[in-house]
Amino acid sequence: MSAAPHSAPIHTDALVIGAGPVGLFQAFQLGLQGIHCHIVDALPHVGGQCVELYADKPIYDIPGIQVCTGRELVARLEQQIAPFQPTCHLSQRIEQVQTSPEGWHVRSDQGTEWLAQTLFIAAGVGAFVPRSLSIEGLTPHLHQQVWFGSQSLPAFAGQHLLIAGDSDAALQICLDAMDTAASVTLMHRRDKFDAEPDRLAAFEAARQAGRIRFVAGQATELRTQPAAQGERLAGLTYLDAEGQTHAQPFDHLIMALGVSPKLGPIAEWGLAIERKQLVVNTETFATSAPGVFAVGDINTYPGKKKLILCGFHEATLAAFGAVAHLRPNDKTLLQYTTTSAVLHKRLGVA
Ligand SMILES: Cc1cc2nc3c(=O)[nH]c(=O)nc-3n(C[C@H](O)[C@H](O)[C@H](O)COP(=O)(O)OP(=O)(O)OC[C@H]3O[C@@H](n4cnc5c(N)ncnc54)[C@H](O)[C@@H]3O)c2cc1C
Repeated sequence: MSAAPHSAPIHTDALVIGAGPVGLFQAFQLGLQGIHCHIVDALPHVGGQCVELYADKPIYDIPGIQVCTGRELVARLEQQIAPFQPTCHLSQRIEQVQTSPEGWHVRSDQGTEWLAQTLFIAAGVGAFVPRSLSIEGLTPHLHQQVWFGSQSLPAFAGQHLLIAGDSDAALQICLDAMDTAASVTLMHRRDKFDAEPDRLAAFEAARQAGRIRFVAGQATELRTQPAAQGERLAGLTYLDAEGQTHAQPFDHLIMALGVSPKLGPIAEWGLAIERKQLVVNTETFATSAPGVFAVGDINTYPGKKKLILCGFHEATLAAFGAVAHLRPNDKTLLQYTTTSAVLHKRLGVA
């Protein structure tokens, strides 16, 4: 379902920005209406908040499902949309949206471009981007000596690693690297971790055996050394709880500090916005721009509730709105999935 970054504009009837639960269900409702869509997300996986913030926690208020975890709900949504084969573009953040007589020109930070007839902004609380240590000078070393734990990491055989974080992901990176790296050090403000019991036990055992080192402290500054081309990172300094400064050398720094949402450029797309949310009409969830709909946590209207169920309703009406926009001469018929031969054919169950 995932597509590689693309340079020539991709022509599409519908582009969904955000692959959270509501963006995924939008693809389903568009599919029922016979509209194929492309979906884009800044994260390397679908699922939005459900997967990123509470993957293993229970949800009790999805109609017809007594309880499921965030991850399970997303897996079910993926199954449900599979018949419509939406094209998914992951790890791409939408930066630019511009109108033109031919449609909406949309561009991602990876340079992929779309020419879309309708847009569905399902951007939730914004694009999830990895958190960084708050020290200066990291950016020029990204993908050379500084990495985010959420990306696919190179093999670090024979290298000295410093991992920043306290989560499952941070501990797992330490455990994965300890067999091949020259040394593995985990750094966090305090000697307490927010991780699953099994992973924590494996980490503590490796620590006891001296295979992983832990330092409690807060990074303050990068340390550099001259290299053949410019300069190279030699390590960083950190403050411990007593206010003492220490040096911590490394070859590579891996930041596994979780993600935070950034609304980013949505505010610059020329759409009516109130308190960082897109204003919609509740008939079709259309924004102030023709052919642009906003569904899920990103929108606002009187009585708005940020619930998945409400987002599903919004996506349903937005798909009807898209039919009216794309096929103005067609009647927007309500058909039941139980009995409609047309819908059965679209669902592949005819
Ligand atoms: C801890 C917690 C528990 C919750 N429990 C429940 C519950 O029990 N029941 C319930 O109904 N709701 C619950 N919610 C709320 C629910 O998760 C949200 O209402 C829901 O995720 C909104 O879905 P969405 O698709 O609109 O947005 P999101 O899930 O936020 O997904 C938006 C996606 O858009 C992407 N995106 C944003 N901007 C861009 C861009 N410019 N380019 C590319 N991608 C972009 C983001 O990376 C993200 O993946 C809970 C929320 C939290 C935090």
